[in-house]
Amino acid sequence: MTGAPDARFDAALVEAFGRARVGRDVPLASFTTFKVGGPADWLVEAHGAEEVRRALTLAHEAGQSVTILGGGSNVLIGDRGIRGLVIRPRGGAIVEEGPGRVRADAAVTINGLVRWTVGRGLAGLEAWAGTPGTVGGGIHGNAHYGGRLLGELVAEVRLVDREGAVKDVPQSAMEFGYDRSRLQRTGEVLLSAVFRVGAGDPEQLRAVARQSLAFRKRTQPLDSPSAGCIFQNPDPGIDRLPEGMPASAGALVDRAGLKGRTMGGARVSPTHGNFIVNDGQARAADIRALVELCRREVQARFGVVLRDEIVCLGEF
Ligand SMILES: Cc1cc2nc3c(=O)[nH]c(=O)nc-3n(C[C@H](O)[C@H](O)[C@H](O)COP(=O)(O)OP(=O)(O)OC[C@H]3O[C@@H](n4cnc5c(N)ncnc54)[C@H](O)[C@@H]3O)c2cc1C
Repeated sequence: MTGAPDARFDAALVEAFGRARVGRDVPLASFTTFKVGGPADWLVEAHGAEEVRRALTLAHEAGQSVTILGGGSNVLIGDRGIRGLVIRPRGGAIVEEGPGRVRADAAVTINGLVRWTVGRGLAGLEAWAGTPGTVGGGIHGNAHYGGRLLGELVAEVRLVDREGAVKDVPQSAMEFGYDRSRLQRTGEVLLSAVFRVGAGDPEQLRAVARQSLAFRKRTQPLDSPSAGCIFQNPDPGIDRLPEGMPASAGALVDRAGLKGRTMGGARVSPTHGNFIVNDGQARAADIRALVELCRREVQARFGVVLRDEIVCLGEF
């Protein structure tokens, strides 16, 4: 713990969750797909909505900051770690709530949800096969695949705010956009989401899922730790792209000659220009420095300022 230890907050966590479940100075690298990042002051794995709410309320009362970690597949956590409490929602259920409605808890993995729906002949989510991470992280950043946004499939969500108030919110109030949802503005935490599904033939749905998996295998460096795409694709409505340049961050990085560029243990993937991979020895600072180098060089070459898709958390 780098700050002054907060004994009262610590005791409140222990009372609520039991001594064995309150982690202190917990290294976070292994909870992320990048495999970098320093320690959390406190880490609690919350099982179910009530535990998430409880942890948030205790932190709010103690004036401690809270960070939610889902599957850790879209984050870069700084080498000095995260101050305050990190909550990792775990476990969770999927239920068919009614015709065409499937509710999944925040900690359910996207892949688990795809398998569950495909196996029951429920159509809609099959193309998301192979997307790492959880329902919570997917909705926070409105995950995208093949031009579609996860938020398009959402009917409503259950959220809890930082003071512990739970609310059901319809899709229309979620401010979904490319890489965007209202959670980024409000700091609310997703507890569960209801997805709209249709009827489908499990074999056909399975075939779509297999296609997505094969596409990822062909185009992404899945053997090395990464956090998926580093930058958002440029928006032709805002960013002035050079003649003939596709609206693709990977293409910009590639044409700036940056594929294969390294910084310490971090490398721009030779397979996919928008991926940075960790060779096993990278520090978060290496990755961050390489991100900034790519941004600078793409701007100098093409006049386009790339925006982060990854979420940087904690102290670098
Ligand atoms: C190999 C690879 C391929 C990928 N391909 C894609 C792709 O095709 N499309 C795509 O969009 N992304 C892709 N990603 C990125 C990542 O899979 C998605 O962004 C995913 O939705 C992140 O979910 P997560 O649970 O891992 O979130 P995390 O990385 O844990 O967190 C991301 C953000 O969400 C917040 N968050 C997490 N859970 C909650 C919650 N319950 N409530 C509120 N906020 C929360 C966190 O605080 C953080 O700010 C890829 C990543 C990898 C490694």
